[in-house]
Amino acid sequence: MLKALFLDMDDTLCDTQVANAGAMTKMGQKLTSLYGEQFDSEGTIQAYLTGIYRQWSEPQRERYMAIIEAEGESAYRVQLIRDLVAAQGQAAPDQATAQSMQDQFDLDRIAGFDFYPGIEAFLAEARKTLTLVVITNGPIFSQHPKVNAVNMKAHVDHILIGGEEPEEKPAPSIFQKALQLAECEAHEAVHFGDSLVTDIGGANATSIPSVWIQHDQVLDLNLGGEPKYTLTHPREIPSLVTQLSQL
Ligand SMILES: [Mg+2]
Repeated sequence: MLKALFLDMDDTLCDTQVANAGAMTKMGQKLTSLYGEQFDSEGTIQAYLTGIYRQWSEPQRERYMAIIEAEGESAYRVQLIRDLVAAQGQAAPDQATAQSMQDQFDLDRIAGFDFYPGIEAFLAEARKTLTLVVITNGPIFSQHPKVNAVNMKAHVDHILIGGEEPEEKPAPSIFQKALQLAECEAHEAVHFGDSLVTDIGGANATSIPSVWIQHDQVLDLNLGGEPKYTLTHPREIPSLVTQLSQL
């Protein structure tokens, strides 16, 4: 019998892509206003996004993890902006300018961050009979403001933030903690997420039935194994939960 839903936040419950896109457009406009039409603002903001998701080369990892450990996430993101501008052959913006761009990006992103349509109503209904646990990866720096922006605490029973736990998804420990919180066995839960590596890989490794929110991604079984169910978009979550509840 189904007892609990484990739910990824970004691109599963909430439309992070839309929030990112709005903030990126504004950062691009700012870069163009500072450095002119010839400046590759688009390439720079794409590289910024790659950077904040920590998709680094090995030398970048070394450089940036040292900054994160010594001065924190915000200092890293400010340095990232300065480095990316300098990489385009421009003088890097001074600390204050880069800091204000960084702060503005966060404000714009949070202002645009929300649930997909219908998800709030779905959570309210599901919570009547199931225990709901959000399992989201990422640093406290970015995940706390997002969780607060949608008042996630009011909608689910437990929230696990990877950056606050000993290990993030796909590590089994964070899924096992969710099972303990929900007081159920792996087969009595279902995990929903859009990442084959972290969501599907982690759920599969813990024997929790997995649901992949595909969006427009290609299924690569080398990444996290085969999802038990696949949905093309989060709007399909409610009807699958209804189906699974009747099994
Ligand atoms: Mg996600």
